[in-house]
Amino acid sequence: MHVKQISRGLVMGLKVTGTHVFKKPITRPYPEQRASTPPRFRGAHRLIEEDCVVCHACDRVCPVNCIVIKGFRGEDRRFVLEQFDIDYNLCMFCNLCVEACPPKCLLMGPEFEISSESHKDLVWSIKDLRYEKETRKEESL
Ligand code: SF4
Ligand code: SF4
Repeated sequence: MHVKQISRGLVMGLKVTGTHVFKKPITRPYPEQRASTPPRFRGAHRLIEEDCVVCHACDRVCPVNCIVIKGFRGEDRRFVLEQFDIDYNLCMFCNLCVEACPPKCLLMGPEFEISSESHKDLVWSIKDLRYEKETRKEESL
């Protein structure tokens, strides 16, 4: 009786395996193959630095206060961006900062591989966030 049960289980298992073994896989071998992200995906931010008017609208609206901005008034009376940090230890990718930005120079891009073993490395500064205006036109973001 015991042997009969094992054999039946084995046959059923092989039957299930047989029905799937020749099917096309539905998963991807990540990270060799990456899934494409949808157009409005909320990944890491992108900042068009020269368009930022240092108005602080983005950091005021951020629910978790993870944006730090510093700027100064230049000789031509225009504000110049000196520091723009986003702390991805806190950011919840809600997009509120992007919606609040008057010149639309803050965006969310497709980059999602931002994990790190260090909290410090998850604070991104201008050099990490910088995005060229021309690239934006090409990518139609
Ligand atoms: S996406 Fe949300 S949480 Fe992240 S920086 Fe913008 S407002 Fe803050
Ligand atoms: S809302 Fe836009 S323009 Fe204002 S400080 Fe933030 S990124 Fe710069």
